[in-house]
Order: sequence, then structure tokens, then C-alpha cells
Amino acid sequence: DPRIKEVKDLIEFCPDFPKPGIVFQNLFPVLRNPKVFQGLIDVLVEDIKSKHPDVDVIIGLDSRGFLFGPLIALALNVAFVPVRKKGKLPGETHKVEYSLEYGKDSCEIQKNSIQPGQKVIIIDDLLATGGTMKAACDLMEAAEAKILSCMVVIELKFLDGAKKLKYPLLSYIS
Ligand code: 5GP
Repeated sequence: DPRIKEVKDLIEFCPDFPKPGIVFQNLFPVLRNPKVFQGLIDVLVEDIKSKHPDVDVIIGLDSRGFLFGPLIALALNVAFVPVRKKGKLPGETHKVEYSLEYGKDSCEIQKNSIQPGQKVIIIDDLLATGGTMKAACDLMEAAEAKILSCMVVIELKFLDGAKKLKYPLLSYIS
């Protein structure tokens, strides 16, 4: 899709960020270009409309999933719900711990933000090891939601993160 080619051309590669040896892919230049940003959102929305027209909720992952998720949810006229890092959400939450390269982190979703049986698509900007997306899938299972698909703009295929997931992954740039 030429719209994805335009996105790809705007990605900024940042060597040794945030740590030596990591090449961080920065998608923010895409957001500075409304035509290309709109093209990306349109592609993601069209793909959901064709593959999962029955989606009830778009789930966005902290924090760059929040850049895309609400726009997609509005275009589909469905709910947007955030998954946040620990300690950010009030009230009762489902909580899942996951391992990082060093140590642990956890993410949460408000219990009242999602109903058992709702059909969800989980969105983030990038899949690396898959640990973050896997944790979000575990959260959805705790909430008894039905995962239709996971969705990322960029998939770092050499890390094989998709293997961690029990659900289909839609990705657009690798
Ligand atoms: P994973 O859990 O799959 O190893 O890492 C994915 C998470 O880390 C995502 O939430 C993503 O936003 C962030 N991340 C890891 N590497 C990059 C990168 O190169 N670029 C961007 N934009 N995000 C990254």
C-alpha cells in the first residue's frame, strides 16, 4: 500500500537509544505529517473493517498505543479503553505482571471499562519481544474479553515476538 510506504519513509532510526545496542524506531515524524498520519489511520481502520467488522472495543497500550487507538476507535464508532502501567488507574483493576530484560513491570485495566464477552483489538505502535502485547492479552483474558486480533504498525520480525501471542497479529512494517 503506498500509504504504508510513506509511513515507512518517515520512520526515524535512533541508534543506541534508549540503551547502547538498541536501534529505536521513532514514529513521531509520521504524526508531524497530517497526510501520512491520516493515510496510516485509514489503512488500519480499513483493515479492521474488512477483517473484524464485529469489534466492540479498541484497546490501546501505554503509551504509544494511545496515539493511534483513540483515532481508530472514533473512525469505527466503537469504544476506546487504555491499558496502563501500574498505579495510574483509579478504582478496581485487573493486573498482570510481566518480565522485562531486567526485572519486572505490570500493567492494568479498569475492571469497569470492559465487559465479559466484548470483542477487542489491541493496538500498540511496535512489537519487539512481544512481552508487552502478551501481558495485554493476559489482561484481556482476565477480563474475559474476546481478542479478535493484536495490531501494531511495526513488527521487529527478527525478535519473533509474534510467537509469544496466541492470537493473530496484524502488522504493516517490518
Ligand atoms: P516488547 O514488549 O514487544 O519487547 O516491546 C514493545 C513495547 O516497547 C511497545 O510498547 C513499544 O512502544 C516499545 N518499544 C520497544 N522498542 C521500540 C522502538 O524501537 N520504537 C518504538 N516506538 N517503541 C518501542
